[in-house]
Amino acid sequence: MDTMVSIHVYAAKPANEPAIHRAMAAAFAEMSRLDSLLSSYRRDSEVAAINQNAAADNVTVSSDMDSVLRVAQWAAQISNGAFDVTLAPVLRLWGFGADSLGLPSPGKIAARLPLVNDQDLVVSSERNSPRRFVHFRRQNMAIDLGGVAKGYVVDRGIAMLVQAGFRDAMITAGGDLRAVASPLTAGRRYIWIKHPRAANSDSAQNQTGAFWGRFKLDAGAVSTSGDYERFFFKDGRRYHHIIDPHTGYPAMLAVSATVITRQAVVADALSTALFVLGPERGIALAESLREADAVIIYADGEKLKWRATQALKNKLEIFHQ
Ligand code: ADP
Ligand code: MG
Repeated sequence: MDTMVSIHVYAAKPANEPAIHRAMAAAFAEMSRLDSLLSSYRRDSEVAAINQNAAADNVTVSSDMDSVLRVAQWAAQISNGAFDVTLAPVLRLWGFGADSLGLPSPGKIAARLPLVNDQDLVVSSERNSPRRFVHFRRQNMAIDLGGVAKGYVVDRGIAMLVQAGFRDAMITAGGDLRAVASPLTAGRRYIWIKHPRAANSDSAQNQTGAFWGRFKLDAGAVSTSGDYERFFFKDGRRYHHIIDPHTGYPAMLAVSATVITRQAVVADALSTALFVLGPERGIALAESLREADAVIIYADGEKLKWRATQALKNKLEIFHQ
């Protein structure tokens, strides 16, 4: 999925290190299996098979695909279409992920927008059968799971570690992470939110310069969607990879959206959705959900401002007001 993945396992000494390494290897193996399944970057993925065949036929899908698509459809519904995996035909015009970045013509975007509609993506099953099918109601539709798959992969990696008996761990994949905690790390783990306009957040020496804020997290998932990871400038304007499905253009209401919830797959989809919805509607949506916290950073002229759910406000330590 074109990102770095890291696994941390914490254990009290004396720890069974070979067992830890075996569990990590198994988690990595499961995560790369899912990468081949869910990636839009690979021609042999299940996503590619769906995109090729689902307009003509019912395509039988794996239970992993079924799970991801159900979260995607739920996110589309609650966000009023701000999150939509059927955005792929429009995403391709922008070329993020490929090496063909550029500003598409308005005519091309307008021509593809009618293909973007979560309601035309049908996930169904037969009575008394565990098999799941995917079908597109229109020709030329396509899906892209870039806004939700990484979270699912992180959840599965954590599940593997927990199954192997390691109950204190963290997996990060780009802007997505999930942690489980035991008394060993409880109360001691900070999650740091990148400063969306830090000069170079990877090489910055000074942590509080590279980061916008932090909060403590024992167990749970965190996902951030930002306009600063994949973008290009044209005529002084920033064009980035999170697209508003209603316009076909990069969503402009936020510069970064962070969501904290139980499952990484949910956090991932919601962070993309909240980014598109912007501070007012996004935080209102997060407040309406049980078990979701969020902070959205947005630009007001030259200034960065933020809005957060009430529960998170009490936990956030902000370095830049
Ligand atoms: P990242 O991939 O940087 O972690 P996100 O989780 O926000 O960030 O996912 C962005 C990716 O999701 C894009 O690269 C694209 O593949 C896809 N995407 C972009 N806009 C949307 C949208 N409105 N709904 C669903 N998926 C989207
Ligand atoms: Mg996301």
